[in-house]
Amino acid sequence: MGKVLIIGAGGVGTVAAFKVAQNSDVFTDIMIASRTKSKCDAIVKAIGNPDIKTAAVDADSVEELVALFNSFKPEIVINVALPYQDLTIMEACLQCGVNYLDTANYEPKDEAHFEYSWQWAYHERFKEAGLTAILGCGFDPGVSGVYTAYAAKHYFDEIHYLDIVDCNAGNHHKAFATNFNPEINIREITQKGRYYEDGKWIETGALEIHKPLTYPNIGPRESYLLYHEELESLTKNFPTIKRARFWMTFGQEYLTHLRVIQNIGMARIDEIDYNGQKIVPLQFLKAVLPNPQDLGENYEGETSIGCRIRGIKDGKERTYYVYNNCSHQEAYKETGMQGVSYTTGVPAMIGAMMFLKGLWRRPGVWNVEQFDPDPFMEQLNKQGLPWHEEFDKNLEL
Ligand code: NDP
Repeated sequence: MGKVLIIGAGGVGTVAAFKVAQNSDVFTDIMIASRTKSKCDAIVKAIGNPDIKTAAVDADSVEELVALFNSFKPEIVINVALPYQDLTIMEACLQCGVNYLDTANYEPKDEAHFEYSWQWAYHERFKEAGLTAILGCGFDPGVSGVYTAYAAKHYFDEIHYLDIVDCNAGNHHKAFATNFNPEINIREITQKGRYYEDGKWIETGALEIHKPLTYPNIGPRESYLLYHEELESLTKNFPTIKRARFWMTFGQEYLTHLRVIQNIGMARIDEIDYNGQKIVPLQFLKAVLPNPQDLGENYEGETSIGCRIRGIKDGKERTYYVYNNCSHQEAYKETGMQGVSYTTGVPAMIGAMMFLKGLWRRPGVWNVEQFDPDPFMEQLNKQGLPWHEEFDKNLEL
């Protein structure tokens, strides 16, 4: 039924490849391409399906991408490389007539800045070409948007308050490690906080606002208000929202390390001169930190990510909490990767499946909440990320 090209062979790419291979009725032809071909070959070996093709590609180069697309002729690209490559891959998709899906919005390399404008600007070109682009189809962004769309469709006339709550209660037994690409992760967390209220964006200091929130099967964990990219699209697509915030848990050890990293200048993203060579401190730090892909084996505990929503149904206020808990060990047993890669790679596969089945096929550039959430929610239960609902309980927020 469908020919798919996965770009990126990191933790998320590995999980996406495993899940794509498991759904061979939908994905009939598979290629994994990345900067380092040996990593793609290692994934194929781990999956044990020699029919999966691999290739080397520098996704910063439109020319290289176009050559690869023209030789493999995919119907859709799952972009799970880094956010820096989003625009070159979208450009190549337009040149070759390929549909597009990613899990993180474009970021320029020299500025940690999160907004959809660069990718939304491609809407008319994708529309005219008759191609679909699905943006932000991991867990958050991704499932967080699908959960919100599902709540709006089935349980609310108007959503007023949205809090996305992301808890990682796992323990990888390392002094400090990030759960996905360290460069992208540290850029995100060291940013100023921001949330939406009454039509305005309110800026806070980095990790300034925090409070304990109780997560199912985990208990209370200190949760910190961050800016997260889906807040931009969700407040636009659900204009009844009065306030939207994003919360993420961090342990004290993690925060102490992060503070030291920042204070000594290792989180800098500008180039410095080192013995006559230009290096970016944060990229150097990535090279010495544990590889997120190697955390899985000793990772214990669970993630719990969900949406806590307050709004109106039939004139009455109600609350709704929808969430998934994912065990790092179960994720590792299935794919060799930890839970954070798993919770991102599975929805990326489901998004591509929605496209190939014709359920999420609409020319233009779209965020996930602009499609029908029902078939996606059904697949989450089948593909390893089952969800649970709680109605009219105290949301703590
Ligand atoms: P990794 O760093 O583990 O993997 C990134 C992969 O992309 C590597 O294989 C890397 O190759 C490859 N790559 C980087 N630059 C290029 C390039 N120029 N050309 C070709 N390939 C390239 O990252 P993760 O797997 O942890 O994360 C992947 C994506 O998922 C990121 O964009 C991240 O922001 C996103 N994400 C989204 C989440 C969500 O819930 N929405 C949550 C977690 C992550 P090489 O190995 O050679 O360096």
